[in-house]
Amino acid sequence: MQKFQLYINGQFEDGAAQFDSINPATGQVWAKMPEARTEQVNRAVQAAEKAFYASDWSALTASQRGKLLYKLADLIEKAAPRLAELETLDTGKIIRETSSQIAYVAEYYRYYAGLADKLEGSVVPVDKPDMQAWLIREPVGVVAAIVPWNSQLFLSAVKVGPALAAGCTIVLKASEEAPAPLLEFAKLIDEAGFPAGVVNIVTGFGAECGAVLSGHPAIAHVAFTGGPETAQHIVKNTANNLAKVSLELGGKSPFIVFADANLDSALNAQVAAIFAATGQSCVAGSRLLIEASIKDEFLRKLAERVQSIRVGLPEDMQTEYGPLCTLKQRQKIQQVVDASIVQGATLITGGNTPEGKGYYYPPTILDCSQTPQADSITTELFGPVLSVDVFYDETEAIQKANSTPYGLASGVFTNNLTRAHRMTKAIRAGIVWLNTYRAVSPLVPFGGYGLSGHGREGGIAAVLDYTTTKSVWLRTSDQPIDDPFVMR
Ligand code: NAD
Repeated sequence: MQKFQLYINGQFEDGAAQFDSINPATGQVWAKMPEARTEQVNRAVQAAEKAFYASDWSALTASQRGKLLYKLADLIEKAAPRLAELETLDTGKIIRETSSQIAYVAEYYRYYAGLADKLEGSVVPVDKPDMQAWLIREPVGVVAAIVPWNSQLFLSAVKVGPALAAGCTIVLKASEEAPAPLLEFAKLIDEAGFPAGVVNIVTGFGAECGAVLSGHPAIAHVAFTGGPETAQHIVKNTANNLAKVSLELGGKSPFIVFADANLDSALNAQVAAIFAATGQSCVAGSRLLIEASIKDEFLRKLAERVQSIRVGLPEDMQTEYGPLCTLKQRQKIQQVVDASIVQGATLITGGNTPEGKGYYYPPTILDCSQTPQADSITTELFGPVLSVDVFYDETEAIQKANSTPYGLASGVFTNNLTRAHRMTKAIRAGIVWLNTYRAVSPLVPFGGYGLSGHGREGGIAAVLDYTTTKSVWLRTSDQPIDDPFVMR
């Protein structure tokens, strides 16, 4: 049985309690995880606060911070096979995806490393002849980063990387569902040589560990990725510390296919959009909106293509489709699928929980064109369920695309250039993928509209988000200040 530890103030330590972590491919406990309770969370925040104000960290130049991040990136690249193995064991996500994704995580740290010494202030051409004014860009303070169980190295990189590049310190909370990859990552932070307290990594349950962390008075910014309900708790909780909050939440993203599209390409992209990562992806293209004239042919080919997906053990490099992360998640999905069928949706493929060990659930397609308000088309399932609806013209496609309170991602497949531009403008979502899906890069901002959250991760603005500006005024006149009762 493997055992993991918390990382607080540069030291590894056991949790106040332990909890089991389950391998979703077998349903068996495979590791003991440390649970951080209030005292340890408070200590982690205090360590980050001390490191921010009075440590070797604040004395480092921005270029030196960048060098530490480059070193961390190299260590991640070297450790990628081990980290991928752990993520696969703990989450059930296939090794084929975790290994390539984690190797790419190193590129995220390199991107932020390069930005660390490019965060310049500015001189303001102030409208007063005897004054000069300039802005100094400063790190915002102690950051609380809270992440969900999926893609934790990736989702934490887009918080830890820019926060450290900006000069902040951080307490990172790994999800209780699968904390192994981040607790292992703590060893790389240690090896890279960050001063004690700059990065602290804890895990535990949301109601205590997450709530104490996000509401702590010393926290200046809460960077959260997870579900909208948790986000609401966090926003209420930050009424105490008035921390800045950035939110990356769920979605119900439309995947829109016009009859003029390259349909073979759209077909494979739709498979990627909803069945990669067994559908457990915030950007999952879970609503197929298809032009009515091509619906039957597209669905027939899609159902055929789905039959050839290789389901198997997540640690096998040949496997394309593994289990869900938790039993709870599988039960929720089954309930929504059953309810949607009762509401009038037609099951095209999948839809039944299989016998056997592990939390497997088959790729599922529901035709909801006769019942566009079915639960499966309105609820974020975070699983491998594609709900299909039709449209007859562009206006209807736009209306249906925008018919949810979410707005994270969208895909549009068309070979009509002017239509692609019109659709891009009309869709209310943070990402529009045209003739592609699920492309990400550290250079391109990522984030949502509406219930999908706010704030952007990736791109230069992501680092600026962890900074604030200080306005400095200098009076250049040698004459004494005259009238004290007028504003200067
Ligand atoms: P979740 O919201 O249940 O948990 C996320 C994290 O919040 C966990 O670490 C949890 O312990 C913590 N938490 C729970 N209650 C808390 C509280 N009261 N205070 C502070 N922290 C608390 O999410 P999940 O089930 O782990 O992940 C699935 C969700 O995450 C889906 O909605 C998915 O779309 C979303 N997600 C979004 C993105 C994105 O970038 N937009 C990426 C991945 C996942």
